[in-house]
Amino acid sequence: MTRRALRLRIDPVACDGYGYCAELLPELVELDEWGYPIVSDPVVPTALEALARRCATACPRNAVLLEAPAPPLPAGRPGAR
Ligand code: SF4
Repeated sequence: MTRRALRLRIDPVACDGYGYCAELLPELVELDEWGYPIVSDPVVPTALEALARRCATACPRNAVLLEAPAPPLPAGRPGAR
């Protein structure tokens, strides 16, 4: 069974543009010209998961969201791929 990668998302309403996320996770987050984060790639590589979790914990506005993908539906069920 293959492991599915975490996805990184920023809540733009909660974010105050402090920029810690881009300092802690520059591989996936950069800042726009106003200092607000842009996620360059929402898929978090396994090697960066610990840093991504630290980034989410350090955000003073809890605006860094790490989401696990939903597990696939069992085969033979409506909507299963
Ligand atoms: S650390 Fe949090 S509040 Fe600061 S820019 Fe990143 S997402 Fe926004």
